[in-house]
Amino acid sequence: MYAAATALDINSDLADFRSDTVTRPDAGMMAAIQNAEVGDDVYGDDPTTNALEARVADLLGKEAGLFLPTGTQSNLAGVMAHCGRGDEFIIGKNYHIYTYEAGGTAVLGSVFPCPLPVDARGALNPDDVIAAIKPDDSHNVMSRLLCVENTVNGMVQSQDYMDEMAKLAHDHGLKAHCDGARLMNAVVALGTTAKDLVRGYDSISLCLSKGLGTPAGSVLVGEKGFIAQARRLRKMLGGGMRQTGILAAAGLYALDHNIDRLAEDHSRARQLAKNLSAIKGLRINLDQVETNMVFIHFGDDSVTISDEALSQLKSFMADRGCTISPGRRMRCVIHRDLDDQDCNQLVSGLQEFIDHYAG
Ligand SMILES: *Cc1c(COP(=O)(O)O)cnc(C)c1O
Repeated sequence: MYAAATALDINSDLADFRSDTVTRPDAGMMAAIQNAEVGDDVYGDDPTTNALEARVADLLGKEAGLFLPTGTQSNLAGVMAHCGRGDEFIIGKNYHIYTYEAGGTAVLGSVFPCPLPVDARGALNPDDVIAAIKPDDSHNVMSRLLCVENTVNGMVQSQDYMDEMAKLAHDHGLKAHCDGARLMNAVVALGTTAKDLVRGYDSISLCLSKGLGTPAGSVLVGEKGFIAQARRLRKMLGGGMRQTGILAAAGLYALDHNIDRLAEDHSRARQLAKNLSAIKGLRINLDQVETNMVFIHFGDDSVTISDEALSQLKSFMADRGCTISPGRRMRCVIHRDLDDQDCNQLVSGLQEFIDHYAG
């Protein structure tokens, strides 16, 4: 069973396609954790955490870094460090900070979100952003920050787009933040450097616990003063942890070993998408498979899949060795604990499902 698997037992019975967050530390990462030099990070005494913060700051070309327990807290501390009470940030309406972080910026930060539509590739429209920036008038909130995301639903946001959005923000007196939870997937897919991709941004959050495979952690980077402010906010938000070196050691290990191999996840995702698109009754937009995510839509012009059939999908696939997040539009995420055989199992399981339930 998945729940009973130990950290080292990465070959659990079920192939888990729900997210790249499900990865477990391998033997090398566990050894790094075990050997980590630690201290109390709230006193600034944890050498491994300090090393990780400096390393990620350097990787992303910024002055300083801050280790936080989650990407959610990383983004929240970042938004709150840029914006005060009654200020506004502009963001894509399906981006994580707006949609999947329990409204934290508004609830805990009193920072007002201004959500905008995004295109099929997950990008904001520059004209929409400009139109959303409020003039300084007592009727308005103060527009302070533009938040972009990269990748968005597995889709890479290009260098030109990233540069354009940062410039646009700065030209209008706003700061620019990038939610780079999966930034390294974009970097690997583009064949660029992380430093270049986010060169225009005042702050970036990078998750270590997604494709990079650590048990927990995110690093927020930016200018020294901004990071000092984010450090105070991290304490306020309850994220000041003590011997974080055991997590930071996993992070350093991941930066050494798990970045280049993301290309393997990407090619596996492309192959999976191709194989799935051969199944009648499934629709896959192959153009949108750019990194490690594949979105499957159940039903097409000739094949109908009822909601009732879909309600059986989770257990049907579990019986065939796969853990999935069921839905008419189903996201499958490839990561380091999945191999070709797991993907083939998913394809044959879904073929069986369609054969069994198609109307
Ligand atoms: C996962 C994710 C986060 C942060 O999630 P946590 O679960 O809090 O670490 C932020 N943004 C995006 C785009 C994400 O995918």
